[in-house]
Amino acid sequence: MQKYSLMQKYSLAGPKLATLLASLFWACAPQPQSDADDAVAPGESHEPLETIDGGALRSATHVFEEIAPGVYFAPSTGTGAVNLTSNAMVIVNDDHVLVVDSHITADSGQSLIDSVARLTDKPVRYLVNTHFHFDHAHGNQSFSADVDIIGHEYTRFRMQRNVLEESTYSVIGSPQVQQQLVDQIRQRLETEEDAEARTRLEGQLAMMERHVRALGQVVPTPPNVTLTDKMTLHRGGREVQLLHLGRGHTGGDVVVYLPAEKIVFTGDLFYAGAPYLGDGYANEMPDTLERLKALDLDIIVGGHGPLIRDKAQIETAQEYLRTYWSRVEALHGAGRSLEEALAELEMSEYDQYAAFQVGNPAVRRLEVTRMFGLLEGAD
Ligand SMILES: [Zn+2]
Repeated sequence: MQKYSLMQKYSLAGPKLATLLASLFWACAPQPQSDADDAVAPGESHEPLETIDGGALRSATHVFEEIAPGVYFAPSTGTGAVNLTSNAMVIVNDDHVLVVDSHITADSGQSLIDSVARLTDKPVRYLVNTHFHFDHAHGNQSFSADVDIIGHEYTRFRMQRNVLEESTYSVIGSPQVQQQLVDQIRQRLETEEDAEARTRLEGQLAMMERHVRALGQVVPTPPNVTLTDKMTLHRGGREVQLLHLGRGHTGGDVVVYLPAEKIVFTGDLFYAGAPYLGDGYANEMPDTLERLKALDLDIIVGGHGPLIRDKAQIETAQEYLRTYWSRVEALHGAGRSLEEALAELEMSEYDQYAAFQVGNPAVRRLEVTRMFGLLEGAD
């Protein structure tokens, strides 16, 4: 996150807790609580947003960085009042707004809607889901019925199944797992004596308790407009391309590409750090990333983490994927069981890059299980 000064500036999490949370938050450390008197009740205020250092705009829950005229990056770190978990992007066009990704719960999705209402008077007309994962699409239900929710056919297919019982959600996102994090923060509070650290922990505890409550209200809401390969919106003075570049992080990743602005929002197909592969196609993903690399780009907005301005990081991801896949394929080919493969797999040169996987053996297990499945003919 070192390239994104706002994240550093507003990061109050101590290194140990940041590590703990990063392991549960898809490599995104939590951020501090907003000032209590800054809070705005949902839908009540359309006052302009506060301008903070560096020129970004701030609501009670979100920070918006304008990365091109009318194009705003909303980092997952937000203000720390609500657990957002994933990045979003907001595109303000002549007469409407297009939002990319809806965060992780109805609560966080609503907080995005409320913050956008303070960013502009224009109505939200479109919501794009980059993929089906809970942390990008479980805020969908908060968007009103007249908003078109656009995603890949595969995203709709997966969200129509019972996404609350599938392995990625069960192991990483479920209320049971998140409650464990609440308990860990509480435990730390029992022994923490430093006043400043206590304040931070109390803020994080409030955020996470609110998050666990919100998880109980999730009603998965699939896209109602779908695409398979490409859709282009020529709306409101701007061209917005929705591109499926091939299978990768899931079977239906869509990137949102603004050709004039040379900006792409990649969801979890690409961000700084090792991609999560528990529902992925590690074998096909390097080629898909090659097609991403071919776009004319100045700024890459990943589904998590900081803005990326250096395409070379795509090559790092490709190398990692090829290495990971070939090693698992070799273990499988040598007749190793899943347990044996997990024990023997050696990826230590990527320990820093793959901190999320290293810190979460359950994630590594999901990924290798998935790769074994692919090698045995799963789709
Ligand atoms: Zn994902």
